[in-house]
Amino acid sequence: MAITSFCHRFMGYSMNLKPNIAIDGPAGAGKSTVAKMVAKKLGFLYIDTGAMYRAVTLKAYRDGVNLDDTKALGEMAAAASVELVAGHDQSTKVFLNGEDVTEEIRSPDISRLVSLVARVPEVRKRLAELQRAMAKQGGVVMEGRDIGTVVLPDARIKIFLTALPEERARRRRIELAAKGYYINQRQMEKEILERDRIDTSRETDPLVSAPDAEIIDNSSYSVEEVVGIIINRVLAGG
Ligand code: C5P
Repeated sequence: MAITSFCHRFMGYSMNLKPNIAIDGPAGAGKSTVAKMVAKKLGFLYIDTGAMYRAVTLKAYRDGVNLDDTKALGEMAAAASVELVAGHDQSTKVFLNGEDVTEEIRSPDISRLVSLVARVPEVRKRLAELQRAMAKQGGVVMEGRDIGTVVLPDARIKIFLTALPEERARRRRIELAAKGYYINQRQMEKEILERDRIDTSRETDPLVSAPDAEIIDNSSYSVEEVVGIIINRVLAGG
């Protein structure tokens, strides 16, 4: 369906403000693929909040900041400039203090450390502020762990995407192999389950489904079907 016809239907939303869509869920559930396709179909802005946590983690890693030093991490996050720049076809470039770190933030080292940095309340506060500012005008598809619960609790559409751990590990391995990193299935499963454990058990803004989110198990559907479910919700008014 053409984007113009979507726009007419969006008029039903308050003051022509396009709705925001929150997509949360654990690592490797397929959030990025789904979120990018939804954003493309609707002409919305795709925002990958995990990339922002990864950029701050890269900075801590490079600077040798002790990851138990929450004060130092908070100060570092407050001083760092983290920018997401939308490119063609829903690709996003990530800039840390003006440097393009899009590739580097996906390395296995950063993936292993990011949940530890994301535990820190001051880091979360700073990044959530930036994320809210990006969604102020409406029309974003924002993916992460706390979007429906904390960052955009008023998002019109909230999706919590899950998948079986073996499926999530398989997906992550394929993504990493495309970037030249080869990790075996068992190791990958172990790593994503450990990341889930830290993300779900942290005190501040843990990974949890918002009470009003629709929970979708991505193992049971094709990507197109999940995208269809979300688009239909948008067209139905949320
Ligand atoms: O989405 P991605 O796997 O790149 O996220 C990396 C990590 O960043 C997550 O495992 C989580 O620790 C953190 N994160 C978060 N809140 C978000 C997005 C990501 O805590 N909104």
